[in-house]
Amino acid sequence: MPVHGLPPYDPQNIFARILRGEIPCKKVFEDDFAFAFHDINPQAPTHVLVVPKGAYCSFADFSATASEVEIAGFIRAVGKIAKDLGLEAAGYRLLANMGEHSGQEVPHFHVHLFAGRPLGRMIPG
Ligand code: 5GP
Repeated sequence: MPVHGLPPYDPQNIFARILRGEIPCKKVFEDDFAFAFHDINPQAPTHVLVVPKGAYCSFADFSATASEVEIAGFIRAVGKIAKDLGLEAAGYRLLANMGEHSGQEVPHFHVHLFAGRPLGRMIPG
């Protein structure tokens, strides 16, 4: 069983196809470590998805198996994207779903970046 508790990485997942340019997206940012684009079904005025360039199924997979350089590069990219979008003053929320109970739909690790209005409670209910 892989460390992340999910099936092996599926190179046909939707974000892998976006990374390869096979499916269009509204791109926000790209560097050696990260790629960011607007969510197709935004849950806030700003809803950006940030994915690592490498093939990682989930946060569990990424945090356990990515190199230090990839992890640092990815985290710095998330911060830079938020800053460059002008989100620091009013604030923003980061969220990463991991596995079944979180409702993770796409098995390529991604961070959601939400902003643009007060975002309410972290977890409904
Ligand atoms: P998860 O539930 O895996 O954390 O989030 C997956 C996100 O990917 C959802 O917010 C969904 O709207 C978004 N998404 C799914 N398919 C596509 C797509 O083809 N393009 C874009 N831009 N976002 C997508």
